[in-house]
Amino acid sequence: MNFRGGKSLSKLKKFINEPVMGYYFLKSRFNRQQFFKRYFDLNRKKGINSKYFILSFDCDTQDDADAAVILHSRLKSMGIKTVFAVPGELLLKAREKYKKIFAEGGEFINHGYKAHTEFNQDANKYESTFFYDKISKEAVREDILKGDQAIREVLGSIPKGFRTPHFGTFQRRKDLMYLHGILKELNYSFSTSTVPYFGFRYGLAFKSFGLFEIPVSGMWSEPLRILDSYSFYYVKFNNYSEDDYVREARQIVQMFSGSDACGLLNYYADPNHVHDKESFYKTIAEFAKVGQSINYEILLDKLGQTKENK
Ligand SMILES: [Zn+2]
Repeated sequence: MNFRGGKSLSKLKKFINEPVMGYYFLKSRFNRQQFFKRYFDLNRKKGINSKYFILSFDCDTQDDADAAVILHSRLKSMGIKTVFAVPGELLLKAREKYKKIFAEGGEFINHGYKAHTEFNQDANKYESTFFYDKISKEAVREDILKGDQAIREVLGSIPKGFRTPHFGTFQRRKDLMYLHGILKELNYSFSTSTVPYFGFRYGLAFKSFGLFEIPVSGMWSEPLRILDSYSFYYVKFNNYSEDDYVREARQIVQMFSGSDACGLLNYYADPNHVHDKESFYKTIAEFAKVGQSINYEILLDKLGQTKENK
């Protein structure tokens, strides 16, 4: 679920507090083609000349476990690789389901331990809880270590990457430096916990905070806003609909179809929002036509082979 769209006023305030982000916001609105071309150039300079697609799932509720099994099996038959970010607490509760996905090739990344989404009976919907920017540094650290432990225990495997729960609120430089410091101690290789702005500023993956940080991808009409299932399939911010999801994605695919395009389509969804939505599977097939479907482990291999990181 992670990122909340936020109201325009608070967005505006945020941009005033962070002038560089504000500048990128304006650039993204005025000349989108140019904005993407600069992103492609940044990637080329890093030695990445191809187009890749990574699809990950945030499994934030108990219902997501069954939905994840359905998604993984259908996407596998489509030749699509999948990545799962499950809070440790929920991984332990549905261990057999996730073990099955792992045995069938799903990649798992640490997504902290504590469940960070609860069902609100009055509002009749799931709501985000437990934000890393609202708890102490020690509590953040403990949550990451316990999430790591849960993956080792359930899957018998050592995770290599991390995604911050509700990462949209944990984007300050000092937050990300602190996060990467803990991940480094755990001997991880990457985090994928940043908003699209970072991708446009630094390229598909960058090491400013310590390890590789791999920003998620955005919409076409608002490239700095995440294209997620929460906004388009669940709460429907701004009256967004499934059709908008398909349209936004199609325009991104078109931009990535150019011969000068290179980089990463790094999208995520919540299984329960999309496992039974044909529009979602159709969109994923389109992403996979333009970008080679890989997972983070494969991307890390490719990044390691570039001149910059050899
Ligand atoms: Zn989450």
